[in-house]
Amino acid sequence: MSIQTVGVVGAGVMGIGVAQNLAQTGHQVLLIDIYEDILDKAKQEIRNNIRFQSFFKKSDHQEITDGIIEKIEFSTNYKILDNADFIVENVTEKWDIKKQIYPLLDSICPANCVFAANTSAIPITRIASVTKRVDKVVGIHFMNPVPMKPMVEMIRGYHTSNQTIEIAKKMLTQMGKECIIVNDSPGFVSNRVLMLTINEAVFLLQDQVATAEDVDKIFKGCFGHKMGPLETADLIGLDTILFSIEVLYENFNDSKYRPCPLLKKMVDAGLHGRKNGKGFYVYQ
Ligand code: NAD
Repeated sequence: MSIQTVGVVGAGVMGIGVAQNLAQTGHQVLLIDIYEDILDKAKQEIRNNIRFQSFFKKSDHQEITDGIIEKIEFSTNYKILDNADFIVENVTEKWDIKKQIYPLLDSICPANCVFAANTSAIPITRIASVTKRVDKVVGIHFMNPVPMKPMVEMIRGYHTSNQTIEIAKKMLTQMGKECIIVNDSPGFVSNRVLMLTINEAVFLLQDQVATAEDVDKIFKGCFGHKMGPLETADLIGLDTILFSIEVLYENFNDSKYRPCPLLKKMVDAGLHGRKNGKGFYVYQ
C-alpha cells in the first residue's frame, strides 16, 4: 500500500512540523485544526521554516516554498479526511479532547486508514479503545522540531497488528525517518524518563537550589547534553509538559509523578515556553 495522502490533525507545535516534513517528502497533506486563525498562523510558520531551511540553497526560495505549501490543504473541516491513507493526530495532550476525535476520525476516514497518535504519554491501547479499528492504531512519538529529528519512538498498542506496524514504518521511511519500537506504557520510554527529569528540574528551581541557567549548564557542560531540561521544557511547551506529567500521575497513581507547583503556576500565568515567547527563558 502506498501512502500518498496524509491527514494531520492539530496544527500546533507538532502538527506544523509533521505537515511540513510530509509535504517536503512529496505527500499530499490535509492539515486540520479547530480555528482558522491557528491554520493561518501554521501556514505562515511553515512558510518561514522552509525559507529558513532553503536559505543556503541556490534554488529559488519562493518556488520551493510555494511548491511545498501547495501540497498542504489547511481546513477546519474533518470531512476532507475521507480520502486519507494515513492519519497523524497531534491535538492537545488531554484525554478529554483526544477521546472525542478518534470516533469522529473513525466515522470519516476509509476503513483501511491507519491512525497514528503523536501523544507524549497517553497509552495507545486506551486511544485504540475508542475506535472500531483497534488493530490499525499505533503510536508515533515524533520528536520536536519534527523536520530536523531523524528518529521517532513507535509504540505498539495491545491490538496493533504487524501489518499496521509495517505501514507506519513505510510512512516513516518515506519521511526520511527511522524508528525504535517499544511496547505500550504511559509515557512510553522517552517521556517516562524525560518528564520526571524536567519536573524535578522545576522543583530545583522552586527550591532555589540553582537558577534555570545553572540547572541547564550542568546538563550541557557536565553530561554533554545539547540542551538542559528547562530549555527542553520551553521547546516542548510548558502546558504540554504539565498535561503529560498529569497523564503519568493519573495512570501510575504514583506520587513521584506529582506535578511541581511552580510548573502549574507558570502554565496558569500563561508562560508556555517558546511557542508564546516566555517560559523559563524569554524569546525575541
Ligand atoms: P499544541 O498545544 O502546540 O497544539 C495542539 C493543537 O491541537 C492546537 O493547535 C489546538 O488548536 C489543536 N486542537 C485542539 N482540539 C482540537 C480538535 N478537536 N481538532 C483539531 N485540533 C484541535 O500542542 P503540541 O505541542 O503540538 O502537541 C500535540 C500533541 O503532540 C500532544 O499530544 C503532545 O503531547 C504531543 N507531542 C508534543 C511534543 C512537543 O515537543 N511539543 C513532542 C511529541 C509529542
